[in-house]
Amino acid sequence: MGSVKDYFSNLGTGIASLVKGMQVTGKEFFTPKITEKYPENRDNMHIAQRFRACLELKYDAEGNHKCIACGTCERNCPNGTISLVTKMVDTWDGKKKKKLDKYIYDLGSCTFCQLCVTSCPTNALDFSNDFEQAVFTREKLVKQLNYLPEKEEPAPTPEQIAKMQAEKEAKIAAAKAAAAAKKAAAAAAAGEAPAKPADESTPAEK
Ligand code: SF4
Ligand code: SF4
Repeated sequence: MGSVKDYFSNLGTGIASLVKGMQVTGKEFFTPKITEKYPENRDNMHIAQRFRACLELKYDAEGNHKCIACGTCERNCPNGTISLVTKMVDTWDGKKKKKLDKYIYDLGSCTFCQLCVTSCPTNALDFSNDFEQAVFTREKLVKQLNYLPEKEEPAPTPEQIAKMQAEKEAKIAAAKAAAAAKKAAAAAAAGEAPAKPADESTPAEK
């Protein structure tokens, strides 16, 4: 008698479980599908802007970037992922300036912590959300981020030339004034020195 009771009890539990499962199946049957047809939808698929795929140097419309080769990102990277090659150039006012030559980034060792981006003083870096970064060798993961030719130092404007000329003339005038003051002081000192008495002259002078 007991086995018949167990039989119907188990049958009821099974039917309840089946109905529950069919409820889930029925709900998913009518839910809009979100399956991505990748790579066919590569051109119009949505990738979140915040997704960090690859570090990049930001260029403006004129092909300029804002990197001043300060090395902060290189020093802050915990993995040694960034390597800067810099050079010294002469500026229009005759000074020396450090400039970026090559910005080398190894995607293979980057952990996407974004310390480089947040510590950059000129906001020169950002992460692209271009997630298709697969290559066949690790060497190809090493990228040069400044992909456009580095621009020469700009020629001085007429205002800068005038300012430089004025500063030069001011320096010359100051040097001349200092020399004249020194000469006058020396002359004054010579005039104030006591005259040598005649009887103190040496025998040879006599
Ligand atoms: S990217 Fe930014 S932090 Fe890195 S060297 Fe250039 S200016 Fe400095
Ligand atoms: S995201 Fe982090 S690990 Fe990657 S280059 Fe920047 S500082 Fe280095």
